[in-house]
Amino acid sequence: MVEFYYQCNDCNKRYQRDEVRYLCPACGQKTKPGYPLQGVLSVRFDYDSIRQRFKSDRTDWSCFYAIEDRYFPPYPVGNTPFAKVESLGKDLGFTNVWVKNDGLNPSGSLKDRASQLLVAEANRLDEKSIVTASTGNAACSLAAAAAAAGKRAIILVPHTAPQEKLVQMLIHGAQVIPIKGTYDDAFRLSLEFTQSYGGLNRNTAYHPLTIEGKKTVGLEIWAQNNFTVPDVIVVPVGDGVIISGVFKAFEDLKKAGLTDRLPRLVCVQAESSAAVHHFITTGEFRRAAPASIADSISVSVPSNIFMASRAVHESGGFSLTVNENDILAGQSLLARRTGIFAEPSAAATVAALAKIRDTKSVDADDQIVLLVTGHGLKDVRSAKLNLLIPDAVEPNMEAINAMLTAQK
Ligand SMILES: *Cc1c(COP(=O)(O)O)cnc(C)c1O
Ligand SMILES: [Zn+2]
Repeated sequence: MVEFYYQCNDCNKRYQRDEVRYLCPACGQKTKPGYPLQGVLSVRFDYDSIRQRFKSDRTDWSCFYAIEDRYFPPYPVGNTPFAKVESLGKDLGFTNVWVKNDGLNPSGSLKDRASQLLVAEANRLDEKSIVTASTGNAACSLAAAAAAAGKRAIILVPHTAPQEKLVQMLIHGAQVIPIKGTYDDAFRLSLEFTQSYGGLNRNTAYHPLTIEGKKTVGLEIWAQNNFTVPDVIVVPVGDGVIISGVFKAFEDLKKAGLTDRLPRLVCVQAESSAAVHHFITTGEFRRAAPASIADSISVSVPSNIFMASRAVHESGGFSLTVNENDILAGQSLLARRTGIFAEPSAAATVAALAKIRDTKSVDADDQIVLLVTGHGLKDVRSAKLNLLIPDAVEPNMEAINAMLTAQK
């Protein structure tokens, strides 16, 4: 670890590590109910130390972690595959498309990167329980990481979360409280919960280390890409923390003198839940209806909207939306062309790339990375919507032949 402090994204005030835990004390209290968080903090390192310590032939990743190695739970995350997907790219009219498959994290989503760090922080602070609101995956991942560390996970989720995700949380022994309401209700209640009963709150963006955890996917992409920066990274966006984390990775690398440019970040949202997209394109905040099949990006009041918007603008990127049919078609195309089964939110990136081809906002030969954030087995019901499971046939060759002919 190298020295760091926290800095408020709104008033720029700096805080020592143990002076604050969640939001900037001055700005955080200005957050109005029903509006995105104010006073989200960012970790700022001593970049000169990183410059001296980090060499690409001797990669000391601890330079980029705002917590000491010894606190990490026995829950390894990351190091997920990064590969070129020639045939998918060709189908979509691009020559250099890559996939970062973060659905292959232990709990099946990118959220493991944040949960690992938050459980480490709970170890450091000697907190026995960790509380989170979640659309689903953050909770699955917290449940798993907390189990590995012997901590108690307390989870507030909308009762509409996919069954597979609820099962995931329960199998790890988390205390699960399904809420008859939206993710945004769960978010608000989880803040009240830790204010009343204590414990460490893992809510995305509310705890600054969630952004640092998600950042590691950007660092990995850079290293796996032979320490070069891709032209474009396509990111599915709900609360806007993953995209802010990816931005932070390249911002940190640049400040440490390890790169000299940023990838263009593309924000993808579901048409029916597009508060971040609306803010990026109009500068105005408008609540969305959390109504998409892409449950992990269905957020009405995205907590990290301001930072996400800055990440898109400062990287020279842009934002777009995809509809429900696009998402399911993207999921199917990804599965058929690459062998990767992604949950709808993650497959939204493929749907986006199909749209990007039509708008020509990215060059056909640019290196494009699709960030696959979650595994398809987490939501089988959605994947099944456009599929027909064949009826069973009699156990003989005639029946098999009849079925093959019928399915042609
Ligand atoms: C959480 C999540 C997202 C969105 O991340 P945000 O930080 O909320 O923007 C996208 N895809 C999957 C699979 C997720 O679990
Ligand atoms: Zn502030």
